[in-house]
Amino acid sequence: MQHTAAVAATTAQPVESPPAPVACPVACKVSNASKYFQMGKTRITALDGLSISIDAGAFVAIAGPSGSGKSTLLNLLGCIELPDRGSVEVLGHDTSGMSDGALTRVRRDAIGFIFQNFSLIPVLSAAENVEYPLVLAGMARDKRRELVAGMLEQVGLADRARHLPGELSGGQRQRVAIARALVKSPRLVIADEPTANLDSRTGQELMKTMRRIQEQSRTTFVVATHDPAVQAHASRRFTIVDGRVTGEES
Ligand code: ADP
Ligand code: MG
Repeated sequence: MQHTAAVAATTAQPVESPPAPVACPVACKVSNASKYFQMGKTRITALDGLSISIDAGAFVAIAGPSGSGKSTLLNLLGCIELPDRGSVEVLGHDTSGMSDGALTRVRRDAIGFIFQNFSLIPVLSAAENVEYPLVLAGMARDKRRELVAGMLEQVGLADRARHLPGELSGGQRQRVAIARALVKSPRLVIADEPTANLDSRTGQELMKTMRRIQEQSRTTFVVATHDPAVQAHASRRFTIVDGRVTGEES
């Protein structure tokens, strides 16, 4: 794996080719996964033998009250953490057997993240924020500019490209974050409470934008939210309580 990374780093075209296409109708498969956190002498069970299967191309909502394990589940799906028990397969990769480097590559090449607090770089313009992952990946400037312009257009921010995040509304900032997450054409997008810092109308608009992009791109979306109005945009909903799936609806 180390060797492959070194070769990729010197061949200077990491992004132009899409992530290795592993044919899998199931984007994510979590089997009997448990995740524990040690707090002093107390062991907290964040996920308790949870199983879930997410079809490729689906728009899935993860529902459940605060503290139920939604973010912990997303961290497993995003290859940020590994389960303590059970297994997690993401885009055809069994994460348990993978090195840190291999997990990083899956995250970087195939997964887009959208966070509650937008996580934009404040000194970069909207366009520069969206462009940043492409710069890191070594993509040529002309190609980057073309992709960024197309992405900002898709999220309705073509006329705000030069604005700094501080000059944008919350809804506009989150649209920049959506554009940044999708500009590399990821196969999986993970959004953790993306509307939590927005008023409900802005949140609804944002969900419509995400859904439209998902339908056009056929990218798999997994969105954690405790808001039923946001969950209503999903094609499938899983409810989690105390680290276990308690409901599943289409
Ligand atoms: P949700 O996203 O649904 O609010 P989380 O996945 O964040 O739930 O948390 C599930 C449980 O695990 C909670 O009891 C939370 O306090 C605990 N937890 C999550 N992350 C950590 C951590 N890094 N350290 C200790 N406890 C954690
Ligand atoms: Mg959470």
